Amino acid sequence: MRRPIIAGNWKLNNTINEAVELINGLKRELVDADGVDIVVCPTYTALSDAHEILMDTNIKLGAQDVYWEEKGAFTGEISPQMLKDAGCDYVIIGHSERRKYFNETNETVNKKIKAALAAGLLPIVCVGEQLEEREAGKAFDVIKDHVTGSLAGLSGEDMEKIVLAYEPVWAIGTGKTATPQQAEEVHAYIRGLLKEIFDEETAENTRIQYGGSVKPDNIKELMQEKDLDGALVGGASLKIDSFTQIVKGAV
Ligand code: PEP
Repeated sequence: MRRPIIAGNWKLNNTINEAVELINGLKRELVDADGVDIVVCPTYTALSDAHEILMDTNIKLGAQDVYWEEKGAFTGEISPQMLKDAGCDYVIIGHSERRKYFNETNETVNKKIKAALAAGLLPIVCVGEQLEEREAGKAFDVIKDHVTGSLAGLSGEDMEKIVLAYEPVWAIGTGKTATPQQAEEVHAYIRGLLKEIFDEETAENTRIQYGGSVKPDNIKELMQEKDLDGALVGGASLKIDSFTQIVKGAV
């Protein structure tokens, strides 16, 4: 039985004060939330304050990206060890916005996953096709490329620590959610790929989140699908109310 996981990707939003206010609200509202893993991913500057507030709660902390080197002359980057030091358990890797605006490739995603795992972080690895790719009938090819490239060289044991997030790019921040059937079709395909790459047990145990305009009013329907194990939430994770309702709706 896979435990659902809901993660909030705050992207480039919130000052430290705003982040503290949001996290205090979530901590209050979600204190009783049971049967679901909850993760929030603020900007780097808010991580330490968030960690102070979330220590010993049921809400885990994550970062939105990471570099693969431990230290050195890499201006602007942050290492897995630094994220651990700031109190992170999770890190999002390969988000479509990183792939689109910052030249993230399967190769860099793969390096980041390996470095994150070595430092004891739990990667949330994003894959997903763009609208033109879906319209050209290439969605599954893109997913296969993202999954096989991103996970190259990893073991079944590594996969126990990894969460995958299927995020169709056309559904991110657009208000246009994939239908539960569209999402399930891809989730089941990803699980099939995991079975080919690893084995049946690994495929069955890996959690696959859906991401793309998840809201309080669509989470329950999405969660009915058998291969859908939670959500990566952008816009709706920035409000105490909506994120709380999504977490509660996922159980
Ligand atoms: C995301 O950024 O991962 C995301 C799914 O965003 P939104 O929920 O706003 O579509």
